Amino acid sequence: MLAACSGDSPAAPTPVPTADEARIRRNAAQGQFNAMSPQIADLLKDEPWVSDGSEETVRALQAIVGAQATRPDDPGRAEEAMTMVQAMQRSSWYQDGVDTSEKVVIAEAFKRAVTTQARYTVGGSGEPRNTFLQNYDWPALLSLTLELGLFLSHTSAGGREIALLGTATTGFEEKASEALRIASEHMSRIEALSGEIRFGSVLILVEAEAYSNDRHVCGFAHEELFATHISHDCVTSRTVIHELAHLSTPITFSPWFEEGTAYWVSAEIRGTATGPTWDAFRDENDATFPSNDSPRSIEEYHQHSDAGFILYAELAKILGSPTVSVHVRSVNEASSGTQVLESIIRHTPPDKQTEVRNLIRTLCVDTDRFGVQIPCRLPAESSLNQAPTHRP
Ligand SMILES: [Zn+2]
Repeated sequence: MLAACSGDSPAAPTPVPTADEARIRRNAAQGQFNAMSPQIADLLKDEPWVSDGSEETVRALQAIVGAQATRPDDPGRAEEAMTMVQAMQRSSWYQDGVDTSEKVVIAEAFKRAVTTQARYTVGGSGEPRNTFLQNYDWPALLSLTLELGLFLSHTSAGGREIALLGTATTGFEEKASEALRIASEHMSRIEALSGEIRFGSVLILVEAEAYSNDRHVCGFAHEELFATHISHDCVTSRTVIHELAHLSTPITFSPWFEEGTAYWVSAEIRGTATGPTWDAFRDENDATFPSNDSPRSIEEYHQHSDAGFILYAELAKILGSPTVSVHVRSVNEASSGTQVLESIIRHTPPDKQTEVRNLIRTLCVDTDRFGVQIPCRLPAESSLNQAPTHRP
């Protein structure tokens, strides 16, 4: 059984299916065995959990079918899925009975086997979108997750069950377990500050060392893959919270927003937002990269991050964390930098407008060459939907 780590709100109890519902789902489960490769079906069809008539069982079996479906260009997938099933069956959490949370984990792990291996390409160019994908043996990494029970379940404030899956390159399994513990400890607070994790699962990969442009970095968050990878020497609350914050905030065209909010969330939770200066906050070993990093150089990237972190740390001092949190959670996916600023101004009460506008003017960059720096185009006060200031 799984030691579930939940958020503040308990999960809604799974309603007991009626006899008819259970029969329909048992038929749906049987249908999955017909779609499965016979070798995998042989391993699973007599297991007690597969005939319980639950919705989670059907979803778990569907995910296994999805992971093993053979394609003309990828005949090895059934074998890889079988490796994962066998790893799962060797584990103690599986052998003592499979509960509802564990079925969610099974479904998510097999779905990750598909999404991490999909060859995302850019437009019609055929260029791989995420070249790092090819650097890892994902079925082996996910087999490790299942065999060692490197997972936890988190219930979001909205009542969704999110699977936290951990894995590691050889020798760092303990670190993956530690990263999961840190993640589950802070998950509810991260979601309260920057929004719910938008995916059914988060995959945390701890590897020997992570590199970007030959520089050692602590973490990367890849939103498209619902995964985050962290260097073994950076398994700290600072890095883990930072990377998870990336998975709960929207992807925008503004690294200053993405990095600024991730550093702010991490500092806020650890109680260091009002302490050290930025230089003290970011040291050589704690540089992290945004999910859609567009600055052309590490220096430019640091400038954006600096401005973003200072902006959010100062905003929280002026407006208070709850107001900043409401702003961050209201930002839409793919917002431009200017739209993010408009949202900040909208959430600023009239008596704080001057202070917040002055803060933005201090940090903004007029050139705004790539649309990624904090822009200087502040909305006019008259354009805001505030109460009219003149009498009729
Ligand atoms: Zn980051």
